[in-house]
Amino acid sequence: MSILGDNKYLEEADKKYIWHPFTQMKDWLEEEAIIISEGRDCFIKDIYGRWYLDGVSSLWVNIHGHRKKEIDDAIRQQLEYIAHSTMLGLSNVPAIKLAERLIQLVNLSLVTRHSSLNKVFYSDNGSTAVEVALKMAFQYWIHKGIDGKYSFLSLKNAYHGDTLGAVSVGGIDMFHKAFSPLLFKTYDAPSPYCYRCELDETYPDCNLACLERIEDTLKENSSEIAAVIIEPLVQAAGGMIVSPHGYLRGVRELCTKYNVLMIADEVATGFGRTGKMFACEHEDVVPDIMCISKGITGGYMPLAVTLATDEIYNAFLGEFKDSKTFFHGHSYTGNPLACAAALACLDVFEKEETIKNLQPKIKMLDTWLKEISNLPHVGDVRNKGFMAGVELVKNKEIKKPYAWEEKIGWRVAYHARENGVFIRPLGNVIVLVPPLSISPQNLKQLLDVIRSAIIAVTA
Ligand SMILES: *Cc1c(COP(=O)(O)O)cnc(C)c1O
Repeated sequence: MSILGDNKYLEEADKKYIWHPFTQMKDWLEEEAIIISEGRDCFIKDIYGRWYLDGVSSLWVNIHGHRKKEIDDAIRQQLEYIAHSTMLGLSNVPAIKLAERLIQLVNLSLVTRHSSLNKVFYSDNGSTAVEVALKMAFQYWIHKGIDGKYSFLSLKNAYHGDTLGAVSVGGIDMFHKAFSPLLFKTYDAPSPYCYRCELDETYPDCNLACLERIEDTLKENSSEIAAVIIEPLVQAAGGMIVSPHGYLRGVRELCTKYNVLMIADEVATGFGRTGKMFACEHEDVVPDIMCISKGITGGYMPLAVTLATDEIYNAFLGEFKDSKTFFHGHSYTGNPLACAAALACLDVFEKEETIKNLQPKIKMLDTWLKEISNLPHVGDVRNKGFMAGVELVKNKEIKKPYAWEEKIGWRVAYHARENGVFIRPLGNVIVLVPPLSISPQNLKQLLDVIRSAIIAVTA
């Protein structure tokens, strides 16, 4: 078959057989499908040979670029031994090495005060890491003999994944509301979204009034709350909402004060995204449970970890007959290929001093954001490290949003695509999450193309 014929066949077969995630398939069927066949560094290539800058790190997972030699080699090497064996009743070599490495890394990064995160529970994606965290927190209190802590406190605009437990603690109406009859009840608190403060306050005069709301809820209901779950510093899928300084630390202090666990969902923020290895580092916070996934394998393979303190782990110890066992596990838990990729990813962090070398590029991004904040339809710009959002508004004076149907974010993304940059917006928010390894030249290209796209589309 000719190259062109083969390509045409792929597009037809995609449209015939695949149902894409978070995608209105009617639109998909009407548009040209971009089908990726190759990647290199921070670029991805489609079957027609067109290269795109991967401006979203393949949905926030890629760290060191595509076809990173060290990670490629590590997976190949592991293949010489075994691709997969179960963690139920067995262990495997890369999973053990990675667990030790992660515990060292986390406890090195987070200044530990009372307790340390010393136990690793594997699963295979961010949502499952969150499910594990919720079930652990819930059952921890039962094992401690404290009854009634059956609920959770979560934030508006939160995103913790798409499985039903994770959706229950989610707070994005567009994604979550349709499923509300299926969800367990939670307590919610305002999103620390300063640009559109639910409490009509202005930072810093507000004295973090949103934190007081959490305290009000905990004061009254902590006997029913197992844990507070939070995306530290950045509510990512909610629109790259960056919480004001002191908020995360405040949440930690409230959890301690009212005897509820703190679950930090670092699935998006972990592995350097915010400019430090973990977002919790920025405010010297140690959660009781921490979820990590996306960047853990450098964006190579599905893998997730839920870290827990000794205190939580110990509560599940008991005689076999007492059934204190944590009854949870997935088929691909602790997959050796994925763990080998994760180990190689951490090696690259060390060898290339990824976090250190990221700092000047964060400065570039900060400067660019400041510059474009003057554009007439840019309402708000916000970022923490390499997680950035540009919120477009119809009317800047009154912060009037574009109507959802206007697809303003998508129009900017399509414009950028025509100029060789792939991005995916969150509603009216243009999202920038490039691979940490991006060169300053390529970062400049990304920023130039997006700036032009915003100007062209909002003119
Ligand atoms: C992406 C994400 C998840 C879900 O991870 P999946 O691997 O997509 O299931 C959970 N929490 C946060 C903060 C995320 O950004």
